[in-house]
Amino acid sequence: MKEFAYERPADVRDALIAADGGGRYLGGGTNLVDLMKEGVEAPTRLVDVRRLPLAGVSEAPDGGLVIGATTTNSDLAAHPEVRRRYPALSQAVLAGASGQLRNMATVGGNLLQRTRCAYFAAQVCNKRVPGTGCPAIAGEHHNHAILGWTRSCVATHPSDMAVAMLAFDAVVRYETLDGPGEIPLEDFYPPVGDTPHRETALPQGALITAVALPGSAVSPRSRYRKVRERASYAFATVSIAAGLDLDAGSVRIALGGVASRPWRARTAEAFLLEGPLTPEAFRAAADAELAAAEPLPGNGYKVRLAGNLIETVLKELRP
Ligand SMILES: Cc1cc2nc3c(=O)[nH]c(=O)nc-3n(C[C@H](O)[C@H](O)[C@H](O)COP(=O)(O)OP(=O)(O)OC[C@H]3O[C@@H](n4cnc5c(N)ncnc54)[C@H](O)[C@@H]3O)c2cc1C
Ligand code: SF4
Repeated sequence: MKEFAYERPADVRDALIAADGGGRYLGGGTNLVDLMKEGVEAPTRLVDVRRLPLAGVSEAPDGGLVIGATTTNSDLAAHPEVRRRYPALSQAVLAGASGQLRNMATVGGNLLQRTRCAYFAAQVCNKRVPGTGCPAIAGEHHNHAILGWTRSCVATHPSDMAVAMLAFDAVVRYETLDGPGEIPLEDFYPPVGDTPHRETALPQGALITAVALPGSAVSPRSRYRKVRERASYAFATVSIAAGLDLDAGSVRIALGGVASRPWRARTAEAFLLEGPLTPEAFRAAADAELAAAEPLPGNGYKVRLAGNLIETVLKELRP
């Protein structure tokens, strides 16, 4: 690992100043430090954010919740109002990593964790250095994307938390030296296009301060389901966060493990809003969403898996 400076400010403005000019924020370090050890990342300055007054979950005026960026994954999953009002979010966080990692990992860091494509850590590729190619497309890609990918990169986004937050229309709040800003999570991860190295819409040097979850009638009737290669301690093969409120005629579906970003299943949602929310409609909606899938030779199984998950979880949510 290359030498780096370390700072631990107690104030947001001091953190922004410390990171100005190429410093990197350090949350729990459970992704960034691994990548530094592997030589994928080599920041010259780390700005530890864990002493900033950003931890905790608070009520929002619209009936939603505001989750501070340095809240640990464990505290978020255990929060009584998160469990009661956004159960899929608590379940998604608990489906990720291990208890020890969740105790360290923060909300901001989880949203910004990098892909688990094995080539990315092992060698230079388009995501690390534009123009250097994507060995996964002709190589090992059984756990790669089926939706929205391009020839420049077929990696998936690894976060479980982000999938559930996307289903609930979360908004990411941040600070910069020029002032605050916010980005809906749906726009936070740009389409991969031919710039897979550009992973978020955050301005340079921005510090994530919080994630706002709007109040929602459907979120208390939600769940997260994750299919993975081991019973625990494994990233999603395919996952789903879904919510269903028959009285309000409201449905939310987001998928993980299928694209370079958490995937909001807008086609399926629109299909279901056209008619009665019947079990037959759930299958048809899944098929409509996955008609856009473009699997590679080694990952076609994900299309069926994602379809079955959409149908099964919506059926479970139907009273
Ligand atoms: C073995 C293992 C298994 C795992 N399994 C899963 C899993 O199944 N599902 C899952 O979702 N995750 C999983 N994870 C990933 C884990 O959840 C992430 O490593 C963790 O959430 C990252 O949080 P962190 O606070 O440690 O981030 P860090 O490693 O500290 O930072 C990650 C990135 O975020 C940036 N950053 C951090 N905080 C801020 C901020 N406030 N503002 C701006 N930038 C910031 C950092 O600069 C860095 O670029 C696993 C990790 C490991 C090691
Ligand atoms: S899928 Fe993306 S991260 Fe993986 S090798 Fe290809 S360019 Fe790199």
